[in-house]
Amino acid sequence: MNRKYRKTVIAGNWKMNKTPSETKEFMQQFKAILPKGRWCDVALCVPAVCIPAAVRAMRETRVGIGAENCNANASGAYTGEIATNMLVDAGCKYVIIGHSERRAMGETDADVNAKVLAALEAGLTPIMCCGESLEQREAGITDEHIAMQIKLGLQNVSEDKIRKVVIAYEPIWAIGTGKTATPEQAQEVCMNIRAVVRKLYASKNARAISILYGGSMNEKNAFELLAQPDIDGGLIGGASLVPEKFVQIIEAANQPTA
Ligand code: PEP
Repeated sequence: MNRKYRKTVIAGNWKMNKTPSETKEFMQQFKAILPKGRWCDVALCVPAVCIPAAVRAMRETRVGIGAENCNANASGAYTGEIATNMLVDAGCKYVIIGHSERRAMGETDADVNAKVLAALEAGLTPIMCCGESLEQREAGITDEHIAMQIKLGLQNVSEDKIRKVVIAYEPIWAIGTGKTATPEQAQEVCMNIRAVVRKLYASKNARAISILYGGSMNEKNAFELLAQPDIDGGLIGGASLVPEKFVQIIEAANQPTA
């Protein structure tokens, strides 16, 4: 982290877990133990049907609620889809875009790019995910693969909007597997992502963009990961489902930075 230049963001991704009633219960417990300090932004991205309960419960707190996906179109015949203006109206501040689990369902870099543009247009903070598979890492093409995801995902994002984008580096082999990238591995990729952003935008903007690590981040390994200079926070799946664990990760973000 480097709080001098950029925001620290701790974001939860609930995936397809918890009902609206369970959301209410979680939020009550979470609110009761939420650290008071303002050292990082906290987001919880929840299933669409849980958004109203989450927004209601977190009103007047510093926790921003987000969605786990959106559609890039403004409205129309897209049965089952949710537009960005609907998310804004429901009280969302964030939206996860391009999670590897959605890419595995067929989402392309072009889809990711269209969604990032739509989210920015609506005033949402897109958390744009990228990450390599184990095969790609073993073939030595991690950097090339991620550079391509970043370049395609950010196409036509203007210089004045790039600081609104949060990038999450999530090695696919580390998601939900209990296998975390080492702090050094995660730092190296996050530093390279910033270098890609620096080639596309002014260096002051590359320096200001928050890059998160995700992949089995938990209350035990968060401190070390967050101590890396280019890791500005975490996107947390499993550990964000338990209030005590999620709070411990938020607390790990309260450490001195370079
Ligand atoms: C995720 O879903 O984005 C994620 C990182 O999951 P987990 O923390 O469970 O590996």
